[in-house]
Amino acid sequence: MKCSFCGKDQAEVGKIVSGPNGVNICGECIQICNYILKETESKKVNKSLSLKSIPTPVGIKNYLDKYVVGQERAKKILSVAVYNHYQRIKHNLLKKEDKNKKEKGKDFVELEKSNILILGPSGCGKTLLAKTLAEKLEVPFAIADATTLTEAGYVGDDVENVLLKLYRAADENLDRAQIGIIYIDEIDKIARKSENPSITRDVSGEGVQQALLKILEGTVAAMPVQGGRKHPHQKNIDIDTTQILFICAGSFDGLENTIKGRLKSHNIGFNADIMSNKLSGENENILTKVLPEDLIKFGLIPELVGRLTIIAPINELDEKALMDILIKPKNALTLQYKQIFRNQGVKLEFTDAALEAIVKKALNRKTGARGLRSIIEESMLDIMYEIPSSKNIKECIITDKIIENSGIPISFCKEKKKQIKETA
Ligand code: ADP
Repeated sequence: MKCSFCGKDQAEVGKIVSGPNGVNICGECIQICNYILKETESKKVNKSLSLKSIPTPVGIKNYLDKYVVGQERAKKILSVAVYNHYQRIKHNLLKKEDKNKKEKGKDFVELEKSNILILGPSGCGKTLLAKTLAEKLEVPFAIADATTLTEAGYVGDDVENVLLKLYRAADENLDRAQIGIIYIDEIDKIARKSENPSITRDVSGEGVQQALLKILEGTVAAMPVQGGRKHPHQKNIDIDTTQILFICAGSFDGLENTIKGRLKSHNIGFNADIMSNKLSGENENILTKVLPEDLIKFGLIPELVGRLTIIAPINELDEKALMDILIKPKNALTLQYKQIFRNQGVKLEFTDAALEAIVKKALNRKTGARGLRSIIEESMLDIMYEIPSSKNIKECIITDKIIENSGIPISFCKEKKKQIKETA
């Protein structure tokens, strides 16, 4: 049996669907038909980001404030950067329209893209910032991990798969995908190992940076529609990355020392003492002093650093910030748990001492705010196990003792305590 569309036989293409009058179609051709149909549909759908209504930097920051605690400087930098990015798209679109109309007279300046680099300790809000930005702008958003990428031809993901993720996030609407945001995490983990360019190929680092550079700069890349490796028989879709905003992020462990070293060496002499005193100041985030040369020294290739023109450093979260994260954001962790319990008809409370205990434990773990959720989960496991099957429990109070001895006591739930006493 042969496919009436591509002429391949069953042995080559696997399953074939037969229609009336001896017409057959294979799986590959069905996929191509689907793609053509979707492409036509997506052209009909309007872009969701109305470029007339780009929120102002203040509007963007106000939105970030609702979800992200602290990181004031990073929020400001990002709000301005994102605002400018979408203004730039609007400007360049106008230019295109003008060209089409063949109007002369106005001098347009072509605006270049600025991608963003967020630096700082993990669990302190880098991903959250990028995700919240994309939500505010209602543009498609995709997250990729730089460590899973390899340069084309090696085992691992090709960088084009990152674009494919964005395309999927845009419901396969190419226009929308092309104005989306891609977040590339762990960019510091693909730093090359030595400062000198390698003679042999460096699969893990430099090659991937080169591959990323191309899509960051703006290129037309071919995405393999079915994902995975590109191969000659697969349908590829061309995606233009010129308007896609790339936000790269990493913790860059050890970068502080490079910056300190540079600052010290520039200040040898009578100023040095003052400088080193300043540098040891605990509150100062040394990452705010980062320069492109420090990133190159760390192992990013100069071309990539040149494409990451906006640098937003974030701070370690202190005790107050962690406490705020527990209670203040619109979807704060404690509010989320309260909601889960409320849905089951139970009132959940955390005592102040319990909140402090959670924060203390999270500080010890040194994983930023990431620890908060797991600490609550661990401590409340037994309670969350019991509650759905215990009809009498109407209120549950989480105390510091529950947090400190992770996992004991359902008996801290008022009603259950009473029950236990009664049965004893
Ligand atoms: P990373 O800096 O490693 O990308 P994330 O942004 O993924 O960290 O943060 C992990 C989790 O911690 C988030 O889902 C969020 O709930 C919480 N979190 C981290 N930083 C903040 C912050 N500044 N404000 C509010 N929540 C935060």
